[in-house]
Amino acid sequence: MAKKILIQGGRVINPKTNLDSTMDVLISGSKIESVAPKIQRTKDYTLIDASNYLISPGFIDIHCHLREPGEEYKETIITGTAAAAAGGFTTICAMPNTIPAMDNRSVIEFINNKSKEETSVDIYPIGAVTKGRKGEELTEMADMAKAGVIGFSDDGNPVFDPNIMRQALAYSSSLNLPIINHCEVPELSKGAHMNESWVSTLLGIKGMPNSAEDIMVARDISLSKLTGGHIHIAHVSTKGSIDLIRKAKDEGVNITCEVTPHHLTLTDKSVLGINNDTGNYSPITTNSYNTMAKVNPPLRSFEDKNAMIEGILDGTIDIIATDHAPHSQVEKMCTMNEAAFGISVLETALPSLISLTETTKIPIPLLIEKLTIAPAKFLNLDIGSIEPEKVADLTIFDPTEEWEIQPNNFLSKGKNTPLEGDILKGKIKTTIKKGVPIYTNGK
Ligand SMILES: [Zn+2]
Repeated sequence: MAKKILIQGGRVINPKTNLDSTMDVLISGSKIESVAPKIQRTKDYTLIDASNYLISPGFIDIHCHLREPGEEYKETIITGTAAAAAGGFTTICAMPNTIPAMDNRSVIEFINNKSKEETSVDIYPIGAVTKGRKGEELTEMADMAKAGVIGFSDDGNPVFDPNIMRQALAYSSSLNLPIINHCEVPELSKGAHMNESWVSTLLGIKGMPNSAEDIMVARDISLSKLTGGHIHIAHVSTKGSIDLIRKAKDEGVNITCEVTPHHLTLTDKSVLGINNDTGNYSPITTNSYNTMAKVNPPLRSFEDKNAMIEGILDGTIDIIATDHAPHSQVEKMCTMNEAAFGISVLETALPSLISLTETTKIPIPLLIEKLTIAPAKFLNLDIGSIEPEKVADLTIFDPTEEWEIQPNNFLSKGKNTPLEGDILKGKIKTTIKKGVPIYTNGK
């Protein structure tokens, strides 16, 4: 029998039970045995000293791109889940924009088998809404639901045809699963590489306006009302979207949404080479035209970023999700027009979010709620809480330790981050999955 693990003296934050206090946690096998102020140690316990550290339920990410099958040069299921563990994530969801797309039962089963055999982090697949993610014909949604998908999305692409979206919402509601939409009206974003603002004008880069997102969010709210289906808005990025979702929630619409760490902390000034936007004008420098800050939806304005923070504070935003989108160096070491959209986020999510506790009114327990029990509820899984009898998925981190973001040290194959060289607080110490430490201090 495996030894019991005793985690001593950490600040346990468990939003589900409103617990925020110094506690010991005893793990027996794959489950939590007890949580108490002082647990008597016996000599056959493995000890983890968590004094000065925070103990959170294992983080859950409902939006990752693992690139396998088809683009293993960018990321594989093994490197992606290693990056997840290093970032404190114990459960992640894989988006279906692989090659081939995850649009039928056999690809979903491939992911499930790989997850079972090769990884220590749980992966839940998301099935495509339309065949080949082309937006034309619905997939066999019920068949994929039987294989265990947690929702449907054509992410990377929007479901642009409103009639297809109407049908998708109607079918998915009978399966009790959400449709997760990447909201972007393609006619308004065609040929754009960043947010449309004075920054894009200054740089001479074609931008996409907020309307490209707002219009589709409004459409999806209307279609959710029509069908009763659960619409989940992926990676919200505009003030307009937040206002629409807030109003829809007040009216009782079946809607949820997520935001990424980068849309909470960065603005389009990152394309200019500036990560701490103060809302003032900045000129072009040698750090400008930063392709690492090219992402879709684009990093928006200072006002939009503040609207994301408001959305977290007032509960309009349900979940924080990474939209981890690894790419090879070749796809980023090029011109803005040639560069791929996406940021490698799994290993920087925690420090990005911790920075919010210093610059905004967002407290750490609220961030942890959006990373744990909120996504667990969305996934309808009995995880995301530190209580006796629950599965022992835990993340132990130091919220005060400073470190320099060095992408070459990432376990992800994707070294693409605009945070390179930034010094941030918040370091993952140990990630525990089903009672087993799967990541400890860099390994
Ligand atoms: Zn997307």
